[in-house]
Amino acid sequence: MEQRLTPKEPSSWGRLKRHFSDAFSEQFEYRLNGFDAEGINRQERQRFRDAYSYILLLLASVLAPMLAYDLYTGRLLLAAASLILLGVISANIWLLRSARRAFLSPTLLLLLGILLILFAVARGQQHSLFWLYPLLAGLPVLLHSRRAMWIGMLSGALALPLVFANFPAATAVVIGVSLGLTWLVSAWLVFAVTEQSRRLKDMAITDPLTGAYNRRYLEEQARHALEGWRRFRDPATILLIDIDYFKRINDRYGHAAGDLAIKQLVEVISHRIRGVDTLCRFGGEEFVVLLKQTGREGALSVAEELRRLVESSKVLPEGSMTISVGVCEVNAAESLDHWFNLADAALYTAKRMGRNRVEMASQGATQRGPRASTVPDWR
Ligand code: GH3
Ligand code: MG
Ligand code: MG
Repeated sequence: MEQRLTPKEPSSWGRLKRHFSDAFSEQFEYRLNGFDAEGINRQERQRFRDAYSYILLLLASVLAPMLAYDLYTGRLLLAAASLILLGVISANIWLLRSARRAFLSPTLLLLLGILLILFAVARGQQHSLFWLYPLLAGLPVLLHSRRAMWIGMLSGALALPLVFANFPAATAVVIGVSLGLTWLVSAWLVFAVTEQSRRLKDMAITDPLTGAYNRRYLEEQARHALEGWRRFRDPATILLIDIDYFKRINDRYGHAAGDLAIKQLVEVISHRIRGVDTLCRFGGEEFVVLLKQTGREGALSVAEELRRLVESSKVLPEGSMTISVGVCEVNAAESLDHWFNLADAALYTAKRMGRNRVEMASQGATQRGPRASTVPDWR
């Protein structure tokens, strides 16, 4: 019987779980200003909006029962305050759901929620204090680390005198310590998980031998650059670098010295390029530098400078090694593969024309570097 593999449709519970974990998959920081800044793509913006919506829902789920109780017991001042805050929260949720910007920052709203709870305690509603637990536990998950710390400390400083004024000393001590521990345990868990995911992410995009980025990361960045060129005409250029006669280096000095030479090449290149550029190990002894906001002339001069720097650095026991570079500007590329292939063709030309030189990927390629093949002194 023929069997068909159809992807299973996730259940609504599965979808909700996925939505929640996506929203908090990385450190969350919703900025009211600069939220649409360059570098934040649409998906990321949606993630921030979703995470902020969850914060607002948490606040609403604390304030709604408080409002009901205040109305039931006829505490109209407290009920009015809860109602206003709930109104603001609902308006912000509505804005976020319709992909617009919220008008109050999550920090301020959380602080207002905490102040309202403390106000209720001050007005004799002692049990309201227990609403602080979910908010304090949620703080480190929901807010950027330093803000979570400041709000946690501020809330503690405001709550402690109230707790001691409203409860017998022993109970007050237990409440104070347990509130502090709730915040601390949550912060510890969040920081541990964030740190672990940061390390895993670093590992997933880094080459273990050299510490340069790997091909996966390069492809991601190059895809961005291609998109940037198509949408905004942002220039970008890749340099495909290959060490000349590397097999001979291995044969002559051994594989370990070869590895060391590769590492030193990465040192030399990464000291020269800018922080916004991406250096990646493309494979074996081939590297790619993605130069952002850089056109033909700029890229050619960087490539030529790198070529000269490597030639003049004493990377090998008996002298220097050389590199050949293929340069290709993004505007020549129809796709990611095409871009790399053009750079590869230029590199091939550089090799064919004697090595230790830079070639541009285009008809009538610009020739840089010495015309005669330079044979390194160790050969
Ligand atoms: P060409 O000038 O034409 O580039 O000559 P080449 O000898 O450098 O040729 P090619 O670029 O094809 O050489 C690749 C060699 O690099 C093959 C392999 O022995 C060596 N190699 C690849 N990866 C590593 C590595 O991680 N460590 C060391 N030590 N050698 C490597
Ligand atoms: Mg080579
Ligand atoms: Mg090679």
